[in-house]
Amino acid sequence: MRGLYAALGMVPENGDLESVSPIDGEILGSVQTPKAADVDKIIADARHAFEAWRAVPAPRRGELVRLLGEELRAAKEPLARLVTLEAGKIVSEGLGEVQEMIDICDFAVGLSRQLYGLTIASERPEHRMIEQWHSLGPVAIVSAFNFPVAVWAWNAALALVCGNSILWKPSEKTPLTAAAVMTLLDRAVARFGDAPAGLAQLLHGGREIGEALARDPRIALVSATGSTRMGRTIGPLVAARFGRSLLELGGNNAMIVAPSADLKLAERAILFSAAGTAGQRCTTLRRLIVHQSIADGFVARLAALYALLPVGDPRDDGVLVGPLIDEAAADTMADALDAARSQGGIVHGGERLGPRFVRPALVEMAAHDGVVLQETFAPILYVLRYDTLAEAIALNNAVPQGLSSAIFTTDLREAEAFIADTGSDCGIANVNIGPSGAEIGGAFGGEKETGGGRESGTDSWRAYMRRSTNTINYGSALPLAQGVRFEI
Ligand code: NAD
Repeated sequence: MRGLYAALGMVPENGDLESVSPIDGEILGSVQTPKAADVDKIIADARHAFEAWRAVPAPRRGELVRLLGEELRAAKEPLARLVTLEAGKIVSEGLGEVQEMIDICDFAVGLSRQLYGLTIASERPEHRMIEQWHSLGPVAIVSAFNFPVAVWAWNAALALVCGNSILWKPSEKTPLTAAAVMTLLDRAVARFGDAPAGLAQLLHGGREIGEALARDPRIALVSATGSTRMGRTIGPLVAARFGRSLLELGGNNAMIVAPSADLKLAERAILFSAAGTAGQRCTTLRRLIVHQSIADGFVARLAALYALLPVGDPRDDGVLVGPLIDEAAADTMADALDAARSQGGIVHGGERLGPRFVRPALVEMAAHDGVVLQETFAPILYVLRYDTLAEAIALNNAVPQGLSSAIFTTDLREAEAFIADTGSDCGIANVNIGPSGAEIGGAFGGEKETGGGRESGTDSWRAYMRRSTNTINYGSALPLAQGVRFEI
């Protein structure tokens, strides 16, 4: 660890929150959590920093994010290694996570010159209407363990170019990667020169810190990524003070495999999206809806491939499935498989291979209910069968979550029907690729219990700004809208 700390410019702390590697249970280091009075000061500092930062021209704010991107490029390999150690991701996924941070920095730098408003036709002579976007205030980012650094970057890069200060409450399971990223951001801030103190701060800790941020009226936006259970607490706390929240919560993502599908392509997509990241992505494939006519052969082939999946130390070459984040997650998976069996499910795989290591499970289910409707954050893929496309789309939509979805078909009519208004009800609907592995150019997020938030690309930046509508009269009369007369 000493070499990794040095490569990332980190100073080891002796704090009260330990980081435990899911690979072997080794304690990687520790960080300090703040006291209640410290939290109050951190928020006050964020408010002051916001007041100074919003006066900096947006393209200049973009320069800070450009420098952050440079720091991330330079530290990509050691930061990815730390992601692997702390979150258990295989090497290529750790590198991919840091690449995603770099990509969103590039996007945000361009965006810093494109925070466009509108000009609107006025009904009144010699009047003009415009719509502008202004900075919002301090933005709190609450993030989950499974994307310990990328989710922060999606939010931070946009929030910063939009003129906001940021506060980060990372998952208590992945504090060291957060500390490493803050070290890199501090370097970018030092090179930038005149950023206000308190512009970007880190608050380690558990749900109590997240709740303190959600309650505080000085925080303009709480962007929270994690379980639907977390969203049920944070959402109402922010709403009670009329604050804004951006919720990125759980998914229960499905893929339809139609009779015309390219099955070789579908197999690869299923393995990556259902077993990759050990089933711990919000977009992980959890339900496979296969046409009756191809189901027997296809499921038998998948079960054989599942048995070949290399499970083990994510640092080793060739391993595709690393550990679950902790033993509780492996227990939860075992409980879900028991529940599936008691519902008549036929389980292939799913064995526990160590305290936190499991073989991904494929479970043939007769009915779409009970445990199938829940997000179990582990590599379990439930398989269901269908007869008509309408039935398959209805199954795709018949869960409380609405994050991601996919169809494999070479029939244009089926593909279009799936992504049409009457098709998938999810925020993401893909054709001939799996539901996971999004690019940063698109808006990311989902409907229903997934929370409705959108992050990352297209116009997601608007969530980090406030809209101002302005009517300007450049004439010498004062006509009222809708022809109203009000004169003495
Ligand atoms: P989690 O809900 O346990 O924790 C997420 C974050 O919220 C952590 O920082 C945690 O400390 C905090 N938190 C938890 N309960 C809280 C509360 N009551 N009040 C305030 N803060 C609270 O989630 P996790 O186990 O870290 O991550 C897995 C979950 O995250 C899955 O449900 C997954 O689908 C979801 N997720 C969603 C997205 C998305 O973009 N939709 C992305 C990644 C993960």
